[in-house]
Amino acid sequence: MATLSYQRELSITDEYDVVVVGGGSAGCMAAIQAGRAGAKTALIEKNGILGGTTVVASVNFPGLFHAWGRQIIAGVGWEIIEETARRGGAVMPDFSDPYKEHRHWEHQILVNRFLYSTILDEFCAEAGVDLRFHEMPASMEVMNDHVLIAVTGKSGLSLIRAKQVIDATGDANIANMLGYTLESEEQPQPGTLIYGLSGYNLEEVDQEKLVKLYQVAVENGMLLHTDHSPGAIPFLGELRSAGGNRMHITGIDGADSSSRSVAEIKGRQSLMRIYRFLRQVPGCETLEVNYVANECGIRETRRIVGEKKITVRDYVSGEVWSDAICYSFYPIDIHRHGDNTTDIRPLTEGVFPTIPLGALIPRGSDHLLAAGRCIAGDQEASSAYRVQASCMATGQAAGAVAALAAKQDISVREVDVEQVRDLLELHGAIVPYPDNL
Ligand SMILES: Cc1cc2nc3c(=O)[nH]c(=O)nc-3n(C[C@H](O)[C@H](O)[C@H](O)COP(=O)(O)OP(=O)(O)OC[C@H]3O[C@@H](n4cnc5c(N)ncnc54)[C@H](O)[C@@H]3O)c2cc1C
Repeated sequence: MATLSYQRELSITDEYDVVVVGGGSAGCMAAIQAGRAGAKTALIEKNGILGGTTVVASVNFPGLFHAWGRQIIAGVGWEIIEETARRGGAVMPDFSDPYKEHRHWEHQILVNRFLYSTILDEFCAEAGVDLRFHEMPASMEVMNDHVLIAVTGKSGLSLIRAKQVIDATGDANIANMLGYTLESEEQPQPGTLIYGLSGYNLEEVDQEKLVKLYQVAVENGMLLHTDHSPGAIPFLGELRSAGGNRMHITGIDGADSSSRSVAEIKGRQSLMRIYRFLRQVPGCETLEVNYVANECGIRETRRIVGEKKITVRDYVSGEVWSDAICYSFYPIDIHRHGDNTTDIRPLTEGVFPTIPLGALIPRGSDHLLAAGRCIAGDQEASSAYRVQASCMATGQAAGAVAALAAKQDISVREVDVEQVRDLLELHGAIVPYPDNL
């Protein structure tokens, strides 16, 4: 065992009602909701920009807010999307037109990352949220009625205190740090590094030669078949759309810093293979990578084991949980490990899945909630509820629960779901009610 020679006592520098860790789709909405409900709130984000996967991994096409012809997710997340559109940073699809032949992506909304992230800054400021960029919790301990958090930042460690904490890290980092039971797959779904291409003219690309060169490149190891989206002519999709969002980085985990480092490096190696390969295709000799996301997008790592668990059967049945706090809507969408294919299973028409409050509470927790893609469910259900609109909705719900628990000095398990629903509705959210209510 080693000890540091400079160890010193830390005194508490800040006290909050609610501390949210992670400023992605879930964390931002959680912090804004908690702040609007009157809780003294901090948002800790390891990067210097809000938006998480939407912004730093360039998955800037949130969905789905509508299902079968009606809106099912609104609230804070929707306000931000509308504001982004109002300032010219998004074009709303025609939601009155239920998408045809299960083309669910037609209802996703392409958002400008600069406008979206800056509007998140503004909404957080308006809600009184203390934005703590470039910080990460280094260690935490649950005391009787609060949580002590040692936060590491550019100046070293500081100590803060919170009545309630929300884990919106995507990877259940905080639940893990506090020792709650987690669930993960032996072979998580692959990640993807999103990039843009320019410097070529599609009409001049020799498609026949592209296929032949591709076969040779895969045989001699210059390329991997997971480097591109599936299709009869490899890379044609990427060349048509001037970029890629479907390379599969397989064999990665991404939940902690060391495994995440491997994922980042593998993603850029994949893009380097793509770049070198495409530049030898006639018509692409001067092709350039003109954009690469700051981080590799991670689809799946760990989920909490919650007071309740959403199974795929629950999800596709559209069961309205007795403690439902929001809707979610997306096909089951599993990107296969070690492959470049996807298992997509659309939902039955008229099905509106719901999320129970219990899936946001780590089993036995009094002072910690989870929100976003790390809430409790099985792999298939989470492949659907991980999408951004659903993360926004669970984030807003977690913010409401944490604010109510902090105000009443009670455990998150004691919060009355009716009060949560009332608070959410007050802030524009759409809340499902079981038939018997
Ligand atoms: C390639 C790809 C394609 C996808 N396609 C779609 C799509 O078409 N439509 C859609 O809606 N969704 C899509 N998704 C899913 C969706 O983008 C994510 O599941 C969702 O954004 C997760 O939101 P989150 O808030 O849970 O986590 P994130 O957005 O990942 O946010 C987590 C935040 O926490 C921060 N953080 C993490 N750990 C710490 C820590 N210890 N301390 C401080 N900060 C920390 C991170 O920096 C980040 O800002 C896709 C995902 C991928 C990877």
